[in-house]
Amino acid sequence: MKKATIALLGDPVLREKSRPVTAFHKKLHALIDTMKFTLINGEDGAALAAPQISVSKRIVVINYCGEYHEMVNPEILESSGEQNDIEGCLSLPGLSGTVRRAETVRVRFRDRHGKERTIERSGRMAICIQHEMDHLDGVLYIDRMDDDDFVYNDEKGTKIAVGDLLRISPRRQD
Ligand SMILES: [Zn+2]
Repeated sequence: MKKATIALLGDPVLREKSRPVTAFHKKLHALIDTMKFTLINGEDGAALAAPQISVSKRIVVINYCGEYHEMVNPEILESSGEQNDIEGCLSLPGLSGTVRRAETVRVRFRDRHGKERTIERSGRMAICIQHEMDHLDGVLYIDRMDDDDFVYNDEKGTKIAVGDLLRISPRRQD
């Protein structure tokens, strides 16, 4: 199997609203397997949404906190509380920024066979789920920051204003 190429900030696919999955057959399984392979063999990413490999469909794979999930057509049923923590994204390599999210989310999704499941998670896993689901609506974590906030590249010891990144790839307007 080959790793898929990760779409980077500025690629219009990251700003599209993804379409729901309607068929749970071989083609879907092959796509999820490619996502899983790309995630597990990639640079310490926690999760991957299909738009990040240029497929505008509502699919997320998560390999984080000792858990592995494949979520097709995920929906947040309920969210509560608040937390602020640092996030990064495979589509904005090397960068991280602090984002406000719900502390707990209950999410319903289908597995690769179409079977419905519901899970509830808090803390870092809840951040991960919300971050990935945002990708399905063309939303990036920097969209949830203020334009005059900064993202940091710890390796290079540099910082970039969020507004400068958003000039490369503006927020969706809907
Ligand atoms: Zn991301």
